[in-house]
Parts: sequence; C-alpha cells; structure tokens
Amino acid sequence: MPPEPPLQDKDNSKPQKPVKDVDNQKSQEPVLDYLNPQEPINKPPIKASKPTMACSQILYIMIIIVLTPFFYVDVVFYVTPQLLGPIGFTLNAIVCTWISYNILGNMWACYRKTSSVDSLPLELLKPAEGEEHLWRYCKECQRLMPPRSWHCKICNCCILKRDHHCNFTGNCIGHNNQRYFIWLTFYMGLGSSLALVYNFIFVWRHGFVLVNELFSMAALQNGPEPDLAFRGAISMVVYGNIVCVIFPFVMFFSAVSMVRRNTVMFDTSNREYDMGWWRNFSQVLGKLQFWTCLSPAIKSPLPHDGAQWKTKDKE
Ligand SMILES: [Zn+2]
Ligand SMILES: [Zn+2]
Repeated sequence: MPPEPPLQDKDNSKPQKPVKDVDNQKSQEPVLDYLNPQEPINKPPIKASKPTMACSQILYIMIIIVLTPFFYVDVVFYVTPQLLGPIGFTLNAIVCTWISYNILGNMWACYRKTSSVDSLPLELLKPAEGEEHLWRYCKECQRLMPPRSWHCKICNCCILKRDHHCNFTGNCIGHNNQRYFIWLTFYMGLGSSLALVYNFIFVWRHGFVLVNELFSMAALQNGPEPDLAFRGAISMVVYGNIVCVIFPFVMFFSAVSMVRRNTVMFDTSNREYDMGWWRNFSQVLGKLQFWTCLSPAIKSPLPHDGAQWKTKDKE
C-alpha cells in the first residue's frame, strides 16, 4: 500500500499551513472542517451553566439594577429637594435622569450585544488567504477562532477580541460591546460622584457618624441621641457611595487605557495592533467616536469585522 498523501484544503493546492492550538498543542483533524464552513459542523452541545454560577451572575447584575434607582430616588426625591431651589432641583433631576438612562441603557446593550465568533457572517468564519497561521484552535468549541479571540468558559463560546467577562452585565466584553462597557463605567462613576456631592452636603448638615461610632454598642447604649439612627443611616449611604465612585472609575480608566493602546486585559503587553490613539478608539467606539457618549441608542458602525486585524507591521 502506498502512503496516503497529506491532507489538503479543497480550494487550495498548497498543503495546509499548521494552525496554532490554544494550548500550544498540534492541531487535530477537526480544524480542516472549519476551513470550509459550508460543510456540516459537529458543534459540541452548549452546556447549561452551573446553577451556582447563574445565581452569582444574577446577584452581580442586581447590584446595578438596584443601586441605580436607589441613588436616583435618594438624590432626586429626598436629598436635593432639601438642598436646592426649584430651578436647581429641576436641572438636577434632568441630569440625573439622563445619567441613569445611560447607565441602564449601556448595561442593557452590553448584555444584548454579543461578541461571539458566531456573530460573524459565514464567509468570515474561515481564515482569509494568507492568514491561516494566525487562527487558533479552540478545544472547547472544536473550531478555529480568529486572531485576538479567546474562549469564555462562562459564556461557553469564543469571543471576538475578548477583553474580559463582566459579571455586572452578564456578558463577555469584546469587539461588539466594548463601547457600551466604557460608557457604562463612565456614567456609573459620574452618577455616583454627583450623588456623593449631594449626600455629603446633606450628611454634613446633620452631623456625620464615624464608622467606629456606627459600630460601637457603647454609643448606642449610653448616648440618648434620638437622631443617631438617622444620622447613622445617612452616613452609611455616604460610605457606600464612596465605593460606588471608586470601583466604576477604576474600571473606566483601565478600559480606556487598554483601548488607547489597543490591547486587551489578557494580553496587555502586546502592542502590535496599536495604530495610534485616535484609530484605536474608532475601532471600539465606531464612526461617531466620542459622540457615542450621548446615548447607547446612537448607531455608530464599527470600521472592523473583528476577524481580520491589521498590525503595525502590515501598515
Ligand atoms: Zn471556544
Ligand atoms: Zn463570557
């Protein structure tokens, strides 16, 4: 028996280039099926996420869904009517409504917009000519994935230009929804900062209760202060408010710094896609660039399909 000839791509007479495996192992035969997506593909069944994972996900999502209306009602209907006149109150209510709309709207868009490799049109589900060596094999999905894509164990799929899995929106942040994540964290930080200003002034007028006082049983037993519980409660709101300012702004500035350099969370040292900060931002924010901050409903087409990436060397 003569030895069998090497496997070749049907559309190409050249022998197939080796494809990098996710775990640096040699590619297996299923890789060739994905080079021709017209053929039936035996995808692994989608595993149901574990109940504990689903519960923790819902709890994280509830944090934004509960805290946004809480601070809105606290500031607009309780604190500012006692601090501002009618004009100030109305202007503040408009600003707070706009911020809350952007928080919840961008959160919803992060959740709804998937960056899954499956969102690509069929013709982009295989490497372009000369790019075969850039695509990697995902063992979990048993398929090839484009450069800059990574598998997410929680979403159970490969994500285009995956940055990270965001528990607060219940979705992976990647090529298609990074714009919404940036404005979500920005408005969360902005809204919390505004709420902190009003809450701080309000508490300052009534008298702060320090953390050690708050948890001191002696203060409660000995102090016949009738408003201690009230002052303690509004002071607690301020302490919680400070956390709500710090956390989103840390996320926002780290996301902006990543986009500015065109890197992702798992590959921060890779600068080969850095095309200058303006073009880097346009790859994420789309055609309308920073105008997208006004509303998640603004359409701003991305100049990129998420599968083929230019590098500095190819420019
Ligand atoms: Zn995968
Ligand atoms: Zn994910």
